[in-house]
Amino acid sequence: MTPFAADGSRGFSALPAAVSAAEIRRTRGPKHAVDPGRPIAVWDEEEVAAAGRLVTCRVVLLAGAECPFTCAMCDLWRHTLDGPTPLGALPEQIATALAQPADPDLGEPRWIKLYNASNFTDPHAVPPADIPRIAALLEGFERVIVETHPRLVDASLEAFAGGLTGRLEVALGLETTDPRFLPWLNKQMTTADFAAAAVRLRAAGIDARAFVLLGLPGLDERESVAGAIITARFAAAAGCRHVCLIPTRPGNGHLDELAADGRFVPVSAAAAEAALAGAIATLPAACLVTLDRWDWDRMTGHCDVCRAPRRDRIGIMNRDRGILPPLSSPCGCPNDV
Ligand code: SF4
Ligand SMILES: [Zn+2]
Repeated sequence: MTPFAADGSRGFSALPAAVSAAEIRRTRGPKHAVDPGRPIAVWDEEEVAAAGRLVTCRVVLLAGAECPFTCAMCDLWRHTLDGPTPLGALPEQIATALAQPADPDLGEPRWIKLYNASNFTDPHAVPPADIPRIAALLEGFERVIVETHPRLVDASLEAFAGGLTGRLEVALGLETTDPRFLPWLNKQMTTADFAAAAVRLRAAGIDARAFVLLGLPGLDERESVAGAIITARFAAAAGCRHVCLIPTRPGNGHLDELAADGRFVPVSAAAAEAALAGAIATLPAACLVTLDRWDWDRMTGHCDVCRAPRRDRIGIMNRDRGILPPLSSPCGCPNDV
């Protein structure tokens, strides 16, 4: 099945109309209270350093200013401040995050992920005067991962990379390359913008990671899987070191409205597994590919019997960049789309 063709399925006629930022914002619920003196969350997890090799990574969700973009699927605004990030807040938060003991099951973290629910290169979100202190706090980490909008990739990242002892990796939301969805997505970016950002990062010795959405309004599961694989291949061709498939989730207001009348259905566990297997099979070997499991337990299509073993199977496929046979479980949950 081609995902981008009018094939008579519910896909083509049910594609979402473009929505304005004001319309997306109208559907939002209230924000959570955020204290700029404390990180929102800190934990350790395993990241794939290379096929078959895991490394412990400290994940820090930073409290700061809201992103000025208003992407249709984004729910990160829920944990942000209304105004700019106060000067000094991020170094304080990072120091707090670093003081947390390592997860005894994983050992000392060698990588660190600083996700600020916005763009690391937006001066309202990350005050430039704080950058040298942030870089100094990160001394010793082998890899530092931050996120930004592809159109905001600029020389400040090269300066930040120069102040680190480890390597910088920048996560960029590609989301989808399907041109039919770009007006609705409101990302205010073209695929050419993404490719230019990835090339610029690579030229500066900075790694790029791409976020790819799995599941778009109006597509059925097979179309969503095929579209995510095509998008992942684009990211790999642009030179990304790592492609992360993220099942699109409701919860930001706008997607909940679409879901309420059936115009958006989150993909099932089986679709997530199929997308990961398809991407592993077709992306160049040099590009890591993983499926994000943060929301695995909330997905549909698994049960108390198969949820954990299927989660473990994905973990092994993520780690080894290899495909395992689908789990055969007596529960009868579907394991393919
Ligand atoms: S650019 Fe990223 S943080 Fe900003 S609205 Fe879009 S998805 Fe959310
Ligand atoms: Zn099951």
